[in-house]
Amino acid sequence: MRIMGQEIFVTRPSLPPFEEYAAMLRPLWESRWLTNMGTYHDQLERELKDYLQVPELSLFCNGHLALEGALQIAGLSGEVITTPYTFASTVHAIVRQGLTPVLCDVKPEDGTLDETQLESLITERTSAIVPVHVYGHCCNVEAIGSIAEKYGLKVIYDAAHAFGVTLGGRGIGTFGDMSMFSFHATKIFNTVEGGAVAFHNPALRTKFRAIKNFGIQDEETITEIGGNAKLNELQAAMGLCNLRYVDRDIARSRVLSERYHERLSCVSGIRFFTPRADAAPNYAYMPVCIEPETFGADRDAVQAALREHGVYLRKYFYPIVSEYACYRQRFAGCCLPQAERLSRQVLTLPIYADLELQDVDRICDLILQVAH
Ligand SMILES: *Cc1c(COP(=O)(O)O)cnc(C)c1O
Repeated sequence: MRIMGQEIFVTRPSLPPFEEYAAMLRPLWESRWLTNMGTYHDQLERELKDYLQVPELSLFCNGHLALEGALQIAGLSGEVITTPYTFASTVHAIVRQGLTPVLCDVKPEDGTLDETQLESLITERTSAIVPVHVYGHCCNVEAIGSIAEKYGLKVIYDAAHAFGVTLGGRGIGTFGDMSMFSFHATKIFNTVEGGAVAFHNPALRTKFRAIKNFGIQDEETITEIGGNAKLNELQAAMGLCNLRYVDRDIARSRVLSERYHERLSCVSGIRFFTPRADAAPNYAYMPVCIEPETFGADRDAVQAALREHGVYLRKYFYPIVSEYACYRQRFAGCCLPQAERLSRQVLTLPIYADLELQDVDRICDLILQVAH
């Protein structure tokens, strides 16, 4: 049985009205300026800087290369501490920049880096911490900040999930030295593919511009060993259109999130994460933990049962990074019990602006049927 004849996935990309986007393309056909930091690129940088309430921002062609760019510009060496409970990109970026990732376990209540274990992982080779605001849940930025200061470490946040999130009224991208955002099609704000680094130091502005364009400062001056990671004008135009609707989308997802809580939070064996109460979330993800002893079925059984009805829940994040085939050897001795447990219990439920409340009700009904 399919719900209303349609399959439901965990997310569905937001798109602006077609005519609105099409109208943005006309000037590009006239100017033939398609990429290399064009008008839309620079306009989107300004608008995002305001929207995210960050002092400086540099666009990239995706979040992953934005993170690699941030790591490169931070001038790191040796070891970088991050968590295994994240998307492949975070640890890959560290390794691809020639650095050694060191994994810190996470807290069961929100999935973010467990700051109480940080100091025990710091060595004389540690140069930075790359915590992840996983699901948009804010890390303990205060504790991480003071430990970083004590040991002279850089802090670069993976804020790929945290677009529009504020903490104590401050843009989440203002914490630490730099923060990476992703504008991939599956994120709450998208430029099809895209990303950005938010940072504080205005002196880095020209470095960021150079690093995403082969290190070219001007025609005759190549200052950095940069790659090609520019956001083109067609994607920047998509971002400018989508930015007009993101507040509406977040408000809509909030309604859906509240419905999930209403329907499922009292069910024994379904545990919701409890992110910080002083943060304003973006409702981009709806993760729950299925605790099999009390729920009466395990996570995989719930996923399989809903798949039969055309509802595709995701095990986001399973497996954890230390269990990847490419990393198993490297992290063989790591003890990461909380991350491992979360990865066996977590399911992310569908949430996106044009999901209907009745879809949420059907999904909840189906989940409850698995328990009984
Ligand atoms: C999406 C994502 C990235 C990478 O962003 P892309 O824009 O897809 O390159 C990095 N980290 C996390 C946690 C993500 O979810």
